[in-house]
Amino acid sequence: MKSRPSLRRLALLGATGSIGRQVCDLVERYPDRFALHALVAGSDAAALEVVAGRHPEAHALLANPAAGDPDDAARAIDNVMRDPEVDLVVIAAAGSAALAPTLAALEAGKDIALATKEVLVMAGELVRERMRRHGSQIFPIDSEHSAIWQCLWGEKERAVRRLILTGSGGPFLRRPLESLASVTIAEALAHPRWKMGPKITVDSATMMNKGLEVIEAHFLFDVPYQAIEVIVHPESVVHSMVEFVDGSIKAQLGIPDMHLPIAVALAFPERLEGVAMAPDMAKLGQLSFEALDPHRYPAVALAREAGERGGTAPAVLNGANEEAVALFLQGQRRFEEIVPSVRRAVEAAPPGEALTLEAVVAADRWARRHVRTSVDGASRLRSKLPA
Ligand code: MG
Repeated sequence: MKSRPSLRRLALLGATGSIGRQVCDLVERYPDRFALHALVAGSDAAALEVVAGRHPEAHALLANPAAGDPDDAARAIDNVMRDPEVDLVVIAAAGSAALAPTLAALEAGKDIALATKEVLVMAGELVRERMRRHGSQIFPIDSEHSAIWQCLWGEKERAVRRLILTGSGGPFLRRPLESLASVTIAEALAHPRWKMGPKITVDSATMMNKGLEVIEAHFLFDVPYQAIEVIVHPESVVHSMVEFVDGSIKAQLGIPDMHLPIAVALAFPERLEGVAMAPDMAKLGQLSFEALDPHRYPAVALAREAGERGGTAPAVLNGANEEAVALFLQGQRRFEEIVPSVRRAVEAAPPGEALTLEAVVAADRWARRHVRTSVDGASRLRSKLPA
């Protein structure tokens, strides 16, 4: 008789975001497989209340409560990450806020389903060291990395020649280059294939998202940067590929629905019945691929450069990008200024090792300040003009 997989108890960081809500969907759809032990959100008490109302069994916590001591909140989250009742920690909070809780969970020997790529981009070396020391594992939720992970199941490390990350190219794949200056916030937020949070949607439009994913793949799979390629695939059906030494390529295909990679990470090594419809290949007819245009998407080469530089350079890249995207979403920077301002920060940053949380956080702060205070000549001129 086959034994039934046991119930997995989850602590979810980022419960009110796009990935967090889809995690909750899956918990509700597969109640014999998953239970929520804790729900953690940033500052939106009303949104957390809605999620918690559907999962009264879970502890609900805010990282930044309107009232009360933020240190108390951080301690409470740290305790949840290390709670012996938790089988799997799901990290889906946006950006660098996820870093300290992730390290806490790794130190407690927890396995992590990781959606927040920034954690690996900022602190890949530190995260890898903690994983080795405490025997914890990371199961990727990012769709490209989930695809690569699935292609690698059962394969030997020495059989891998390179990883091929696919990217849709975002909303501006065919837009004339000279018109990128006039991109509006609404245009940057209209992704043709994926429904995601605002930060990652803007990152998809610049393709900084793919640059961050190159760094993420380097740390997740321990593959050198020269062996990680990016290819444009507008349909977003092939989620990524692995090329092997014999000339074979394995790819993972699926409809663009994040429930799938989330389910793969939550249920590993099982697969859940009926998470999504498989793509109808005959109906799709054809899938297309093209080389990445480095002039349209300079963010990918910039990220690779920061990755090769190592140390705190990827943390600077990430912090500068988060700040530049936030300024764009507040209407304070133009779209085409995002990547150049990140480049200026990466180039001006002092080199440093990224082996402590403090060093990584300091590099992140430095980068954000650099982006806020350094403005290119054209913007300075505009800001002097009457509105
Ligand atoms: Mg992705």
